[in-house]
Amino acid sequence: MSSQPAPHRLVTEADIAPLNEALENRTMDEIIRWAHERFGRRLCLLSAFQKAGCVLCHRAAALGLQEHMDVVFVDTGVNFPETLETVERIRSEYGLNIVTLHPARTMEQQCREAGVLYITPEGQKQCCHLRKKEPLLQIKGRYSAMLGSLRRSSGGRRAAIPPLALDTELNLIRVYPMFRMTTEEMNSYIERHNVIYNSLHDQGYPTVSCNRCTTPVLEGEDERAGRWRHLEHADAYCNINSTDRLKHPGTLDSVRIPTGEAENLFGAGI
Ligand code: SF4
Repeated sequence: MSSQPAPHRLVTEADIAPLNEALENRTMDEIIRWAHERFGRRLCLLSAFQKAGCVLCHRAAALGLQEHMDVVFVDTGVNFPETLETVERIRSEYGLNIVTLHPARTMEQQCREAGVLYITPEGQKQCCHLRKKEPLLQIKGRYSAMLGSLRRSSGGRRAAIPPLALDTELNLIRVYPMFRMTTEEMNSYIERHNVIYNSLHDQGYPTVSCNRCTTPVLEGEDERAGRWRHLEHADAYCNINSTDRLKHPGTLDSVRIPTGEAENLFGAGI
């Protein structure tokens, strides 16, 4: 006899609006615990192991979540060695379970088959899709909620991120416990707790992504000026964060999560 799929419930933007209001003044730890209590093993943490992601990993370990939560990392195959070294140090020193996802093709194969995509604005979108988005979609269905380290103080499309957002592509709820943390607060946290972070941040790279598309920035430049500098496209994003994607006006997002988790989410209060 075939087993029936678990019943699911639709969660809409209107459903999470009161939760966002209630979480607006909660601390980073309170939001992480809140998400862990509601989703258990169905909560993961997504990180590219930049400074903010390292702070979130440190906090998750400090709260004793090592055995309870996967950390998802997309290794595009063209990361800096310093980034991979940071991933390994966080895995071994914080004891976190890091799930590494890979694109289907090496960059060499991709360039042979599709050309050097990352050197044009249209190609960048394709390349980020193939090397970041597609690998991330491999986890669709495994988790119902995902912690991320986006912060309002990064500005741009992140200037107004809510504590919770819906990700229709991964069909899960994004949770941003660091949404109110400023860059000064983040740096002071790193210093106070001696957090492991990518050594490129001390070499002129405020943000770090693939080695093909990240350069250091000059003093006075925007912190994202080193991303896709060759495209002269300061507003470029890789779009793996649902809140970075531009939405058609009037579109209302929704996701479907198991009914039991939805009951926990809406029934247990904040
Ligand atoms: S950041 Fe550059 S190399 Fe990396 S996936 Fe995007 S376009 Fe490709």
